[in-house]
Formats: sequence, structure tokens, C-alpha cells
Amino acid sequence: MDTESANQSDIRVNTDPTKSVMSESHLHTKSLCDHVINVATGCRHGCEFCYVPTTPAIDNRDEMLADQADVDDPQADWGSYLLYRDDLPERLGRILEDRDPSDRKHTDRGRGIVMLSSGTDCYQDRRTAQITRGVVTELVTHDIPARILTRSPAVVRDIDLFQEAGDCITVGSSIPSFEAPLVSAIEPNAPPPMKRWEALDRLQQAGVPVFVSLSPTYPTMDEDDFHELLSYFRALGETIVFHEPINPRGANFQQCLEAATDAGYDDVAAELQRMRDDRQYWAEYALEQLNTVQQVAKRFNGLQVHSWPDNELIRSTSGQLRSKLTAMQQAVSAESFATTEPDTPPKQPVLAESGETVQQLM
Ligand code: SF4
Repeated sequence: MDTESANQSDIRVNTDPTKSVMSESHLHTKSLCDHVINVATGCRHGCEFCYVPTTPAIDNRDEMLADQADVDDPQADWGSYLLYRDDLPERLGRILEDRDPSDRKHTDRGRGIVMLSSGTDCYQDRRTAQITRGVVTELVTHDIPARILTRSPAVVRDIDLFQEAGDCITVGSSIPSFEAPLVSAIEPNAPPPMKRWEALDRLQQAGVPVFVSLSPTYPTMDEDDFHELLSYFRALGETIVFHEPINPRGANFQQCLEAATDAGYDDVAAELQRMRDDRQYWAEYALEQLNTVQQVAKRFNGLQVHSWPDNELIRSTSGQLRSKLTAMQQAVSAESFATTEPDTPPKQPVLAESGETVQQLM
């Protein structure tokens, strides 16, 4: 095991002995992908809200993490360990060579899109970027569509590869806000949001299809904030924006709260606390934000918003509103990339039609 210094924190690095290559993903419910490939275990960015340490990929592997990286508490230590999967491209290549393309397992949505990576950032450093390039090369060689999601501007190093892949690859970044100090408090080691946007801009100028994950949006954001964000996103061309409001729950909530307070964002911390204590208040905020983003997007012709309503939000509603939210969740994103199957994808409804307010729907 090695120890490196990244920003203020020490990172323990080693290799991950797991032999698994690709796994089926529930992220098809967000119209993101059907399968995921994680190029590493752990993540340098250490986002406070990150759900990954609560998933079986981390939670069920505490012994391996203790052996490989002296991890005492995989959740509390999140952001301070990283185990690389260097031989992933080779193993993926062998699997794809041996497999008849028609045997490739699809999920319920059936499109077979692979995402890198849902449990780590696939361009967070040189070594993960190298593994990612190898994996993407294998996917492209076997004509498998892939979605890359990263907060790291280093993704531009593979523009040549993405250009060769044509519509087979789409590349996106999470940009929840342009307020850099707030984003930096919640995502302590991730690059600033404007650097992420600049990377997407370089990609789209090079002809690479791009998308944005506007997620998770903070409780204090208003229409002006969304107008600014969406105007930048529209400048990326006919891009798609996946939007999800923050949901303060789970083991990471307290860390988010403390991070916002430490950074002087008492208003954000107070709102998060109120949403945690009063789930009806959270549901109203989430609906209002989903609607505001949809309405603001109408000002930017060619900008498509794919809203992600949470299951808990859907369960808290009834009647027409519940039907709309359910349809939103089941719809396939508007990307041509996402519709490689012949079925006509369900279109996402907007929450409130012209003149309607969210309160009227509730
Ligand atoms: S970049 Fe993604 S995987 Fe890494 S800590 Fe942040 S949310 Fe988690």
C-alpha cells in the first residue's frame, strides 16, 4: 500500500483484487445506463453526499478494504482510499472477444449502455484515466455504447478516442452549481465546476456528444441561479441536462450539514436540516425545483431537461401529480444515443403546464 498526498488529505492507494468486470445497474431507472464498469474502488473527490460507501460494493467489502488500504470505517474514511483495477481493460477484452454480441445481457430497458463510472471518478488521476482509456477502447471496438460521467477536466485527454467512437460515446459532468466555494465545501477534492464546464465545452467543440448532470441541486438555489446554469449548458449545443434536487437522508447527511456550516453556508445547512426534519417541506422544495428547472429550460430552445424525481417524492404524492412523476421516472432520455432499441421512447411530461403552479397540482 502507498500513501499519497492529495490537497490536504492523505490518500491510501493500492490495487483492488476483485475479478468482477461489469455489473448490471439500477441506473437504468434514471435513463443513464444498463451496466456499469468501475475502474477503481474508492474516490479521491470524497463528496460529502456520495451514496457509494453505503452500497454493497463498499459496505460488504470492509475486510478487503482493511487488508488493502488499512480502512477502519469505509464510510467515515471515504475520500481517503483508492484501489485501482489496472487489469480491467484486458479482462473486459477477453470477455467481449469470447461472447456472441447477441448474448450480451440487457436490463429491463434493454439498451445495453455501459457507464463509467458510477462508484468512482474515472478520470480522477492519471492511473484511473489510463484504465478508463483501455476500457473505452474495448467497448468501442466491440460497438458497445458507453456513457462517461466525470467531474475531472482530464477527460479531454481522450478526445481523439471519443471522436473515433462517434455517437457510440457520450461524455458528461456533474455541475450542481457555479458557486465554487459551496461546491468545494460539499465536494472537497473535486475540480471547480467551471473547469468541468470548460472541459465539456472543449469536447462539444470537438464534436463529442455531451450531457450535464445538474445534481444534486442545493436548497437555496433560485430561478436566477438556474437561468445562469442553463444558459451555460445551452452554450454546449443541443445538450441534455439530467436534474435531481438534493435529498437530505442517509448516513452522509450529517457530513453535508457540517461541511456547509464549516464553509459559512448557514442558510444551506438550515434548509437541509429543515428538509430532513420535515419530509413534506422537502417534497414541496423538490417539486418546486424540478418545476423551476423545467420552466427555465423553455427559455433555451434546444435544451432538454430530463428530471429525476425520487421514489420517496413519488410516494408522497397522489393522483395526476403522482402519474406525472411516475411517467417522468419511466421516460427514456431524449438522447439519440439512449434509443438504440427500435421502441419509441416514452417522452417525459413537464410537471406544470403554462399558467399552472406546483401548488395547484399538489
Ligand atoms: S465523484 Fe462521484 S463517486 Fe466520487 S465521491 Fe463524488 S459522488 Fe462519489
